[in-house]
Amino acid sequence: MKKVGVLALQGDFAAHGAALERAGAEVVYVRHPEQLADLDGLVIPGGESTTMLKLLGFEGWMNQLAAFGRRKPMFGTCAGAILMAREVKAPHQPSLGLMDIEVERNAYGRQSESRVAEIQPEREFQQRTAPGKLEAVFIRAPIIRKVSGGARVLARYDGDPVLVEQGPHLVATFHPELTADSRVHSLFLEKL
Ligand code: GLN
Repeated sequence: MKKVGVLALQGDFAAHGAALERAGAEVVYVRHPEQLADLDGLVIPGGESTTMLKLLGFEGWMNQLAAFGRRKPMFGTCAGAILMAREVKAPHQPSLGLMDIEVERNAYGRQSESRVAEIQPEREFQQRTAPGKLEAVFIRAPIIRKVSGGARVLARYDGDPVLVEQGPHLVATFHPELTADSRVHSLFLEKL
């Protein structure tokens, strides 16, 4: 069984842990960088990326996460996607630069901070998992404004990329851990 870490400093790490277990992984809640050593992959959950960045300022996390991302697959949702991006706007903040994407934080605006949308993922996503639409839960989500380099879009909402893959890594601006559909987590486990 694959051993997957879920960064558990802040945010909805417990929902990710449950979703990963449903998808067939062994889950480790990661609270110290030393725990990264024997993992097959790591999930950075949703939450508040500025708060996470503050917590990541301790114990040399940023360097160790970047090093982990050079060796092993990582999956970031929402705030996690913001942390994995190459460039963050609104406002600018530091990030790991593991994915060639540019994200704008809180880009759906105030009155629509949360929404659930039915999206039609790219055929490739459906072929690699199972056919059918995805229910995408957005909570104060960022918008991915630019996808470049080796990053590839696996699903869009309203024309904007919401699920993007680059080599071993995956990011979603929505929260697949909050629905019963485990295809996105399964796709990540396939990459380990
Ligand atoms: N708005 C948050 C941020 O900018 C992300 C929200 C989420 O992870 N659900 O970090």
